[in-house]
Amino acid sequence: MDEPTNEPRPADSRPRLVAAHTNLTPIQEAWGAYARHQLHCRLCADLDAGPCQTAALLRQAWETLTRDAFGRLAGETA
Ligand SMILES: [Zn+2]
Repeated sequence: MDEPTNEPRPADSRPRLVAAHTNLTPIQEAWGAYARHQLHCRLCADLDAGPCQTAALLRQAWETLTRDAFGRLAGETA
């Protein structure tokens, strides 16, 4: 077994970086923020805990964007 070294590995052996700019829609970004929060939030993971205010706000933001988009599709004016 090779001893670990401090020499940098070749660039192609590194894990791929996640693109910083993904061209997601605002609705997709909002849903992603909500989903990512739930994956890492202890309060959201605890079924016996009270409702998580942060998750509620993120969900509300996604619902607002979605409702607005449906309204535009239906021809409603904001
Ligand atoms: Zn939470």
